Amino acid sequence: MSDVVTMDKIVALSKRRGFVFPTSEIYGGLGSTYDYGPYGVALRRNVKDAWWHAMVIERDDIVGLDSAILQHPRTWEASGHLESFTDPLVDCRACGQRFRADQLEDNQCPQKPSVHPGEGPNCDLTEARQFNLMLETSLGPVRDEGSIVYLRPETAQGIFANFKNVLQTSRRKPPFGIAQIGKSFRNEITTKQFIFRTREFEQMEMEFFVPPPDAEKWFLYWLDARERWYLELGLSEDHLRLRPHDPDELSHYSTGTSDIEYLFPTGWQELEGIANRGDYDLRQHAQYSGEKLEYFDQATGERYVPYVVEPAAGVDRCMLAFLVDAYDEDEQEGEKRTVLRLHPRLAPVKAAILPLVRKDGQPELAHEVHDLLRPLMLTEYDEGGSIGRRYRRQDEIGTPWAVTIDHQSLEDRTVTVRDRNSLAQDRVAIDALPGFLQDRLAGKE
Ligand code: ATP
Repeated sequence: MSDVVTMDKIVALSKRRGFVFPTSEIYGGLGSTYDYGPYGVALRRNVKDAWWHAMVIERDDIVGLDSAILQHPRTWEASGHLESFTDPLVDCRACGQRFRADQLEDNQCPQKPSVHPGEGPNCDLTEARQFNLMLETSLGPVRDEGSIVYLRPETAQGIFANFKNVLQTSRRKPPFGIAQIGKSFRNEITTKQFIFRTREFEQMEMEFFVPPPDAEKWFLYWLDARERWYLELGLSEDHLRLRPHDPDELSHYSTGTSDIEYLFPTGWQELEGIANRGDYDLRQHAQYSGEKLEYFDQATGERYVPYVVEPAAGVDRCMLAFLVDAYDEDEQEGEKRTVLRLHPRLAPVKAAILPLVRKDGQPELAHEVHDLLRPLMLTEYDEGGSIGRRYRRQDEIGTPWAVTIDHQSLEDRTVTVRDRNSLAQDRVAIDALPGFLQDRLAGKE
């Protein structure tokens, strides 16, 4: 992260360049929900692909799942969410606003003078009460108590509920994992940090089932593996840290949890949680469903309930961290430039195809180059404005390479490839261009 980045700059760039828009903006917005524009959706897809690649495609011991958002309500009784997925809430009788009782320090009273809630002359806070964060809806044509279901507040429970199905059909045995990417919903009390905390968000969670004596070993393994994932995708080491939870912070089921924290412009905050959940979840679901959720090892005749190690990350939060870390401002040829130094794997557009001038056969050749690259990576053709302006536009959305077609290209079928970070220009034959860019994308120079 450069020292120039602020959350306001990230919000402004996200809107200006079509990464993130406030939901329902034409109707005045809807508290803390966001839509992802063309570059945002490409960046998110790349984040999810990188996670899926590391978790499922590159490994033999993890399989994928896509469970439903709506699940049997007993799921949430078994998991403990109905009873204890709550935050303490206070209302202010004077201004009518609601605040998280444990985060008053992070909030402002909406009335003057601008102080923390409860500190103003008119503030009149109620006693704190527990507020359940699950969003409710009803299923079927009759709205009564029996029709109430919940939008899942995490993807993990769909994995536990399918433990037996996956065990039987995938022919895996512990240690093995089930990975899932999908939407989750929480009726958060305090939001206001752009896409850091929203009411509808996407999670990337993996439940790793292990023989109980090996749980600690795997917990340490996943702490290391998950931290490395962020570093390999370019987050700077100085802005990443592991923070073990204090014993009084631990969830009721957890024997150990560490957060991977990132230094956002608002301070150190959780990016991902890694928890040693023991056998709590499988035992709870076994008890509530009456199903046996255990592993029987035919070779040894041993039967046991596996322990679970869970790395749980948020797509939106990851995306925000990658944007913040990549954001930079510098000066090129006397002009200020905003540049997103995103890892090429994450960059929404990999290569921009730019004819130097809009005549002399250059656009035609540029279209030919575009067609050559299009099946391989997301590319963008742009012929509008000076070449300098077009470079700036691409720098601002993090495009790692700009391919320029000039008069020489028509003579010898070569193009220049400009590197976003070093600004170095390589002359490359058009025939060799796909390989040249793919090698760089794969990290081979
Ligand atoms: P926090 O303490 O920030 O509320 P949490 O500990 O409740 O997070 P988990 O239940 O561990 O979060 O969820 C795993 C991950 O899902 C988090 O690390 C985060 O990246 C993401 N996440 C959780 N809640 C939200 C939210 N409201 N908006 C965006 N991402 C979220």
